[in-house]
Amino acid sequence: MPTDHRPALRDFLRTTFHHRCPHCGEGPLFQGAYTLHTTCEACGADLEGLHGAHFGGPIILGYAVGGLAGLAAFALLFWRFGYAPWVLWTTLLVAVAAIVLTFRHCKAFWTWWLWVTGELGQD
Ligand SMILES: [Zn+2]
Repeated sequence: MPTDHRPALRDFLRTTFHHRCPHCGEGPLFQGAYTLHTTCEACGADLEGLHGAHFGGPIILGYAVGGLAGLAAFALLFWRFGYAPWVLWTTLLVAVAAIVLTFRHCKAFWTWWLWVTGELGQD
């Protein structure tokens, strides 16, 4: 469905990093650690979407972030210390930590993306 929402850096940052409703910028996105509100507490905008709009996207994004962080860690450690078993374990730890620590941001980003592309409820 076409949308008239124009992406703005301010909206992107507010939703992705401050976890606020992409529609009004006031209501919180999350009601728990990783659970989104179904509708915005401030403006009532749909934050859930239809047909599992949130399913998969944030997970794929989180794994991509974790993979890139792990790859960067491996490259730096391998370049500095060469191969050692602890380099692989550290790489894995960095990747998992990156996934866990950025998952809320990934989910918030995905919510912003769904809103910008018109996949969330429109006015
Ligand atoms: Zn709102």
